[in-house]
Amino acid sequence: MTSEKALAADGCVVIVGASLAGLRAAEALRTEGFSGRVVLIGDEPHRPYDRPPLSKQVLMGKWAPEKTELAGEARLAELGLELALGQRAVGFDAERLRVDLEDGSSVEGDGVIVATGARVRHLPGTEGDPGVLTLRTLDDAVTLRAAILAAGPEARVVVVGAGFIGAEVASACADLASEVTVIEATDVPLAPILGEEVGAACAALHATKGVALRTGVGVERLVAPKDGKPGEVVLADGTVLAADMIVVGIGVLPNLAWLDDSGLLLGDGVECDEALFAADGVVAAGDVARWRWRHGPFDERVRIEHWQIAADSGAAAAHSLLAGRAAAEPFNPVPYFWSDQYGVKLQVLGHPGPDDDMVEVVEGSLESQRFVALYGRAGRLSAVVAMSRPRQLMAYRPLLVAEASWDEARAVDLA
Ligand SMILES: Cc1cc2nc3c(=O)[nH]c(=O)nc-3n(C[C@H](O)[C@H](O)[C@H](O)COP(=O)(O)OP(=O)(O)OC[C@H]3O[C@@H](n4cnc5c(N)ncnc54)[C@H](O)[C@@H]3O)c2cc1C
Repeated sequence: MTSEKALAADGCVVIVGASLAGLRAAEALRTEGFSGRVVLIGDEPHRPYDRPPLSKQVLMGKWAPEKTELAGEARLAELGLELALGQRAVGFDAERLRVDLEDGSSVEGDGVIVATGARVRHLPGTEGDPGVLTLRTLDDAVTLRAAILAAGPEARVVVVGAGFIGAEVASACADLASEVTVIEATDVPLAPILGEEVGAACAALHATKGVALRTGVGVERLVAPKDGKPGEVVLADGTVLAADMIVVGIGVLPNLAWLDDSGLLLGDGVECDEALFAADGVVAAGDVARWRWRHGPFDERVRIEHWQIAADSGAAAAHSLLAGRAAAEPFNPVPYFWSDQYGVKLQVLGHPGPDDDMVEVVEGSLESQRFVALYGRAGRLSAVVAMSRPRQLMAYRPLLVAEASWDEARAVDLA
């Protein structure tokens, strides 16, 4: 029965999505003493694995794909999970807390955790085309690595999209192929998130390994490489680029199709309250969740597609479910994100965005690709972005936790 009350320790929790957020939720349930059934449903055949290494160590051949595993057989057994891997959830009834699976079976819980993450966006008309590669899953990474090796060191690679994934893929390919070109529709990559100046500093990284970046131009059409014959990417300005390999990284969409008739409120994600509840007995976490985030004077609805948020919200969603809606605590993180490209670590603390009205480099310089930049909104510190400055970045974490003012942040002595 759904209620606002705490979940009985011997009830049943169904987690849909067997990746980072889902696994962290399962672990938190057990850490909190939940002794009932935990059913973990995932449509991929693999045990939970980590995605960040896919575009880094796995693509570069530094890690075997198996090394990305987040929990092996022994750990999953220790957690006492009922695993339903390779099983897609196709429907959900939020009243009855019933999840319907592709094989026709259903599972009912006393609580449900929605952790179905996100899937890649495709360029129109390219979905399912094996010659147009994307990167979200372990299988994608294995395919991508095999394709770049098969294409050989003389390969011409075109990457569509200069966001974090596109940049990491281009960076990895730059070590393996002779010619890498990145196409970006906006004038300055990442500017909507990091602003024009820091976005430009990120764009400059491509040149450090000879990767060509074409900005402010979209893709008009493309012909995928096939049977050893090169393809081509035709840009909106008429340029034709020959391509032995095409990779598209133009963002992701939350996995919501199975929730269409669930009764949950859906938008750009599963709409949740500040404790991650989407309905009584239903919480959401990770890339699929859009929740009310109140911090300082700000009250926003956010969906954040980052590792740390997925991990932390998975645990927080489990805590909320156990506590019950009436007693649950708000999920109030300091977001953290990193990206490794071209030998540089880019790190972001807080949540920079288009509403920021101040950006100031307080250490190093954008040109040197070693810097710390502060972001401010309405007189407060909203985020800190650093390149190759991990220690200095972390000095600002307590200030973000304390919702410090812009002036307090500027007064920090990094020496
Ligand atoms: C290549 C790559 C590199 C990244 N690098 C970084 C990085 O450097 N730093 C960083 O902060 N973040 C990075 N991220 C983002 C980070 O990995 C994600 O934020 C995180 O994986 C989100 O976890 P999640 O559990 O919410 O969702 P996901 O990892 O997307 O997992 C959701 C799971 O649910 C499954 N699922 C979906 N629908 C259904 C269904 N109907 N039934 C059953 N199962 C279903 C999916 O197949 C998937 O296995 C990267 C992501 C990728 C893809």
